[in-house]
Amino acid sequence: MVDIKDNTLVNKIVASNNIVDVIGEYINLEHKGKNFFGVCPFHDDHSPSMSVSPEKNIFKCFSCGASGNSITFLMDYLGIEFKEALKILADRVGIPLDKTFTKKKVNSELEELYKVNELAVSIFKNNLASTSGKEAREYLKKRGLDDETIKYFNIGLAINNSISSALSNKYSKEILENLDLCKTYDNKLYDTFINRIIFPICDKDKNVIGFTGRIYREQDKDESKYLNTKETILFRKGNILYNLNNAKEYIRKEKSIIICEGQMDTIRLHTIGFDNVVSLSGTSLTKEQIDLINSLKCDIILNLDQDEAGASATITLGDAFTSLGKNVNVIVFKDAKDTDELILKKGAESFKSAYKNKVSFINFKLDYLKNNKNLNDSVELSKYINAAIESLNNINDDVLVELKLKEISDKYGVSISTLKSKINKKDKKVIVNSKPKELKRYTSYQKAELRIIYLMLNNEDVIITYENNLGFLVTPEFTDFANEVLEYKMKNGEFVLSDFITHAYQNNLDKVLKVVMENGGPEEYTEEELDYLTNIIKGTTVENEIKRLRKIQKESLDEEEKKTIAKRIENMRKEVLTWYKK
Ligand SMILES: [Zn+2]
Repeated sequence: MVDIKDNTLVNKIVASNNIVDVIGEYINLEHKGKNFFGVCPFHDDHSPSMSVSPEKNIFKCFSCGASGNSITFLMDYLGIEFKEALKILADRVGIPLDKTFTKKKVNSELEELYKVNELAVSIFKNNLASTSGKEAREYLKKRGLDDETIKYFNIGLAINNSISSALSNKYSKEILENLDLCKTYDNKLYDTFINRIIFPICDKDKNVIGFTGRIYREQDKDESKYLNTKETILFRKGNILYNLNNAKEYIRKEKSIIICEGQMDTIRLHTIGFDNVVSLSGTSLTKEQIDLINSLKCDIILNLDQDEAGASATITLGDAFTSLGKNVNVIVFKDAKDTDELILKKGAESFKSAYKNKVSFINFKLDYLKNNKNLNDSVELSKYINAAIESLNNINDDVLVELKLKEISDKYGVSISTLKSKINKKDKKVIVNSKPKELKRYTSYQKAELRIIYLMLNNEDVIITYENNLGFLVTPEFTDFANEVLEYKMKNGEFVLSDFITHAYQNNLDKVLKVVMENGGPEEYTEEELDYLTNIIKGTTVENEIKRLRKIQKESLDEEEKKTIAKRIENMRKEVLTWYKK
């Protein structure tokens, strides 16, 4: 199965990056012996169970079994794709990557649609820069958006049918309509967006998938303020996070994401230097969006509108992210409905101070639960306390829960033991930072198989022994994997584990690789152990063959055949005995 895909460049990039430096950018590593150790980010832990080997250029966690090279570490840790991880590594060591190399492969039909949207962006931008864009430019200036910001967000202008007249000769009516760039009335094509300032919306891979258009002229004030691309094959509201395309690298650096409601909040925050920011374009999040944010491995800062809808959405989102084990904080401010208004009215410092004083989600929620309740009324107070305790059930930090219970007890004169009895330990959600370790039991021969493969990965000698003495295992997928290791060595002349990890990832062998790394044991071995393992595999194979023959023997009606099979089984048993005598 070893394919001809040339990984020379990939392997060179991985080899040029010392994995200790790569992982060290995210996790504290301590030097011990020939390896480095740190707290594993892939399971909930406080002791340094992850070992990083500069010599082999791989990492391995002794507790949860996570393992890999620099690329797979970045992929898992940052929740990014192979090519993005490769780009980070290439940039670290100044190896240039061809653009086509990093561009995500999409099917050509989608590629064409992205291209049409891309062309529309250029047309909108040209409109804004043209003489017809004077009024819009003045409007943007008045709203405090300078040229740099306009360029950063690719802001443009829709004027009368500029899209249909420029693109209808090149692209079919269907394409323009399907992208919701144009509409047909009376057999004539018109632009969807007319006399609106245009904000292109990209997916996380920087493809333009749709647009928001905002009115800016006094005479249009009766029309709806914002118009969005309707749902299209590219623009599905459930998976959009405005500005994630730009924000991703800042989220990675800051290890936090600021989630706003409106696009203007995100744009405004850019003007005062906050770039780890996305907008929901609304107050709800789909599961797809939550998964997307969860995969970013960062703290969550909720910065929704300061009204009832915003507060209520903050509770929903905060609960969702808390139950995923995320650290959630909330930005609270007065005197403005949203961030855009706050910064325009009160200046950058007002937001910076609200940011500095952000509150933990649990404090925000405990406050929120008091809303519209008369806490002097014992029935309402009891309702409040019960709701407060229920929200504490969601928290995994026992110390924090204890402190909060004490606060409530002191404040409202309810004994701490009564409060504690209401904390439902059983319902506490478990942190799901990473997938829990699969508790699979392996049979003794499967353990031997996994051990042999693990030794092959770590010792070229064992690959040779496997080739000469075995050439097969019992479980088909383990046999395939072992043969892949053998073939990889044959093809490359040597076996570099770090390179093979990349290869395994690219060929869907990473699942088996993970199982092997998890169950492998120590890297050292003795010849006796190897003989012992080899015999288990051979013995099991013979046992299985005997079972198969027995079945045929039992079902056969031919007495001669029955005898021949009996003889064969006897010979096989004798041969097995000779191995153990060796
Ligand atoms: Zn781990």
